[in-house]
Amino acid sequence: MQKTMHKKLVLASGNAGKAAEFRAILAPLGFEIVLQKDLGVIAPEETGKSFVENALLKARAASEQTGLPALADDSGLCVDALGGQPGIYSARFAGEHGHDGENNSKLLELLSPYQKVSERTAAFWCALCLMHGPEDPVPLIAQASWQGSIAFAPRGQNGFGYDPIFEVTGRHLTAAQLPAEVKNLISHRGRASAMLYALLQTELAGS
Ligand code: IMP
Repeated sequence: MQKTMHKKLVLASGNAGKAAEFRAILAPLGFEIVLQKDLGVIAPEETGKSFVENALLKARAASEQTGLPALADDSGLCVDALGGQPGIYSARFAGEHGHDGENNSKLLELLSPYQKVSERTAAFWCALCLMHGPEDPVPLIAQASWQGSIAFAPRGQNGFGYDPIFEVTGRHLTAAQLPAEVKNLISHRGRASAMLYALLQTELAGS
């Protein structure tokens, strides 16, 4: 990390839940998280073909517009039987952005020909990108997955998105049946965050 790096980070996301998670994770390293909407950042179009490309685009735009280091994440669900779909299109799978109920129904419908659990395997993926500044040639990147399978019907009230139909490998529970503290420890986002934390710790130790 550049020695002059601000301890203030812009979070390139409008999601208040994610902001709380990242604040808790990065506070021990002395970072203060500011939401991009509070700095008037205009989010770029997510034109990447992978999670990591989209995370880079979002972090770079936030850093360019604020002059601060920026952290962005991009995540989604990849279903093996569907060749990795919905992938980067997870939020808008059924058309409208972020309509969780319709996204889940569409996925269950598409998987109806696959009646064995072994045919319904899937993974959540999360990419995190921390750009130290707008021209940073060496951003920090962390990427992690969470393995599971698509359930036959929704179960559970917690979480968001595809959680009610994502059955966690080895647990006989969907992600929506896990308490938030458990999900945050073992999920794709939790594990990518732990990886980013380790990268930051290493950088800070060397600066
Ligand atoms: P984004 O990273 O906020 O753009 O999330 C993309 C989409 O992926 C969300 O709208 C959800 O549909 C899905 N997704 C990402 N992470 C999770 C998760 O932890 N649980 C359920 N759905 C998720």
